[in-house]
Amino acid sequence: MSPGMGRAAPGTCFVSVDPATEEIVGEAPDATPADMDAAIGAAREAFDAGGWASDPSLRARCLRQLRDALAGHAGELRELTVAEAGCPVFLTYGPQLDSPVADLGWFADLAESYEWSRDLGVGAPMGMTSRRTLLREPAGVVGAITPWNFPHQINLAKLGPALAAGNTVVLKPAPDTPLVAAFLARVLREETDVPPGVVSVVTSSSHALGAQLVSDPRVDLVSFTGSTVTGRSVMVSAAATVKRVFLELGGKSAYVVLDDADVGAAAATAAFAVATHAGQGCATTTRLLLPRERFDEGVHAAARTLVTLGVGDPADPATVCGPLISARQRDRVESYLRLALDEGGAFACGGRRPPGRERGFWIEPTLIVGVPNSARVAREEIFGPVLVALPHDGDDDAVRIANDSPYGLSGVVHGGDEERALAVARRLRTGTVGVNGGQWYGGDVPFGGYKQSGIGREMGVLGFEEYLESKVVATPYRGR
Ligand code: NAD
Repeated sequence: MSPGMGRAAPGTCFVSVDPATEEIVGEAPDATPADMDAAIGAAREAFDAGGWASDPSLRARCLRQLRDALAGHAGELRELTVAEAGCPVFLTYGPQLDSPVADLGWFADLAESYEWSRDLGVGAPMGMTSRRTLLREPAGVVGAITPWNFPHQINLAKLGPALAAGNTVVLKPAPDTPLVAAFLARVLREETDVPPGVVSVVTSSSHALGAQLVSDPRVDLVSFTGSTVTGRSVMVSAAATVKRVFLELGGKSAYVVLDDADVGAAAATAAFAVATHAGQGCATTTRLLLPRERFDEGVHAAARTLVTLGVGDPADPATVCGPLISARQRDRVESYLRLALDEGGAFACGGRRPPGRERGFWIEPTLIVGVPNSARVAREEIFGPVLVALPHDGDDDAVRIANDSPYGLSGVVHGGDEERALAVARRLRTGTVGVNGGQWYGGDVPFGGYKQSGIGREMGVLGFEEYLESKVVATPYRGR
């Protein structure tokens, strides 16, 4: 691999597998610790040289070039993303590809319009009348570490704001989705004016290169998306060099149905959400909170939807629920399905591998009933097409159950009276909430979690500012 992004010496590659078929999709460079060391060195040099960090219009131009180049490859990328991430193709017209590519333009605009210098006015600390100016500057070298479930969305939601802000970036994608990242590296190298060293994409079969990136003292900030368990170790390791960390972690979000809602329709929508991309979304609402007196009606509607959706070939535009990313992830989901039964639960539908699918990593969309919110299957992130239905006794109880979670990433509220639904939404301790079908996703919208779902926000102006430092300069004030 070179800091010129995504190249490897012959023989140092690893394979990427299609999770729907177990066939090999391609090979990616398998970087070594020495490659990572070189990438960090190049990023440090490119930042310290100063040209990139001090030229917002160059950065805006490069981001627009990247957007246009990726859009020009949309057909190839769509196919590759479906094959490598196993995501249903319909999602690539939104957050799996087209939306994050388009959002690069939003970050380019922000680089040009942002108020990099702000007058804080005149003050007289210790009798010295002074004009104070706040300067916003790039944080430096960013180590970006990403998961496999929404590879373009997360890679670009880090590159867009980090580059717009003037940082240099070493991106370490997940071992499960190296090909889409290597594609991005090639486009950056061949179709943009991004200067050498400003971005390196280090694909690797090993998690250890992520750990190396976090511990390296030349890296100023780590932007991490992944599981809460890994996020904790990132935080611990970053402490040794007092590095800033920005963490987007897991979730166990609630889908709250109030007693004045159309319970059947709301429960069916919740089922659709959990089946989408086989539930492999951090913000997926995986706990369905139903009014106790209408619990059976909601369970029935959700189960019927899950059975109707089933699983399907992700390349088919009609498919909602594709495969899980790997055998390891399928085994993990199956261990939670066994746990659900051990905890006294039952399956209203699903609970097994779909018959007749011998190849690939599949689990039927599943609805668990009969467990309390204290059960591990209701508290821990399963990351599969698995919904847990829980009864509530009114708005206060629904809020209590929704908030009784170590996580706080997202949520949904459905109710007949929108003001009442909004009042419930305001009481949820989560970073995003959709009310009665409202959608919050977008490059201009900050996304992130309360509690153990993370620290900081990605995207939007808040997300951009995560990648900035602040400096105050004071000069003597002589009345002008
Ligand atoms: P993961 O934590 O196993 O891995 C994420 C990345 O971290 C990978 O690139 C991996 O190689 C790297 N890594 C692993 N160990 C490391 C270490 N010790 N130090 C540094 N880097 C290390 O997560 P995953 O299985 O790839 O992804 C699924 C998880 O990601 C789920 O928990 C999901 O909720 C979470 N996620 C969160 C968001 C969000 O925005 N909150 C978005 C998508 C996914």
